[in-house]
Amino acid sequence: MKSMNKIDLIKECESAGTIGISGHIRPDGDCVGACMGLYLYLKKVFPEKEITVYLEKPADIFNCIKDIDRIEQRYGCTDEGCFFIPPRDVFFAVDCSKDRLGRAESLFDAATKKINIDHHVTNADGTGDVNYVIPDASSASELVCNLIEEEYMDVDIAMALYIGMIHDTGVFQYSNTKPETLQTAAKLIGYGFNFPKLIDETFYEKTYVQNQILGRALLESILFLDGKCVVSVIDKKTMNFYGVGPKDLDGIVNQLRIIKGVECAIFLYETGTLEYKVSMRSCGKVDVSKISAAFGGGGHMRAAGCTLNGTSHDIINNLSEQIEKQLIDGVNA
Ligand code: 5GP
Ligand code: MN
Repeated sequence: MKSMNKIDLIKECESAGTIGISGHIRPDGDCVGACMGLYLYLKKVFPEKEITVYLEKPADIFNCIKDIDRIEQRYGCTDEGCFFIPPRDVFFAVDCSKDRLGRAESLFDAATKKINIDHHVTNADGTGDVNYVIPDASSASELVCNLIEEEYMDVDIAMALYIGMIHDTGVFQYSNTKPETLQTAAKLIGYGFNFPKLIDETFYEKTYVQNQILGRALLESILFLDGKCVVSVIDKKTMNFYGVGPKDLDGIVNQLRIIKGVECAIFLYETGTLEYKVSMRSCGKVDVSKISAAFGGGGHMRAAGCTLNGTSHDIINNLSEQIEKQLIDGVNA
């Protein structure tokens, strides 16, 4: 693993006419916050440049972020057709490696200069020409904050980055919260936005159906490996019954993880015929990033995911074999 120095965003972008920014498919709070924080910052430094965020539509809870409605969703091939975007001079992949950019991967590949800002241990070397990947960092939003020249920081940028930080740290509760994470967050709240409201409205608040499906997932969860592991599966039929989509399932796996005695929680939801999105959480005895990476996904030691094909039973069997091995032999075996 290379040790990575901070990059000078202004220098990297000053000669560019067009700049693209994107993050991973199914963008979460950190991905949205980091992309928008970076966008608002670059727009402020370089008002004359054409700067665009290419991202799947974020959940409505993020509508409070300034200029979120300027995100371009028409790129690559969608249900509406294919949209060609001329190559950008600079393109940022934020909160992921280039292979998780989805429809934006080809825009990244076509760009003259590719910059990767990430904090996933499974992307430690980075996938850009210029990389700033710090696996220890709480969030991509914290990394973007590190790269911002303070004279340009304002309440809108601060709020976007703060949202990202609270989402990836579980409101500064998870073990990825470091002293510098809190110092950064302290600086951000100094810009004076209503952070208790923001935490409630973007992190804790759930709609009625989101709570219903959470309840359903908990009710149908199954303990195994002597109660050290828990799994729950939501199929397409159940999602349709409650009228929910993937964005409504956030937080279920975290609720499973905090069951007393559980070391590792798995949550699956059906994304297609014999296809499931897998989310895993660990309390520290299991490195779920290793398990995800072995199945073509990635993430962090305590929070990781992948997409797997097969029946849910086969998927759970394959995952539990790896989890059991780690529980018996230790994380580093
Ligand atoms: P979640 O379970 O909330 O979807 O994701 C947990 C963590 O694992 C996040 O940091 C997320 O970016 C990462 N992750 C989730 N799914 C995948 C995947 O399919 N591939 C990779 N590389 N990372 C993933
Ligand atoms: Mn992140």
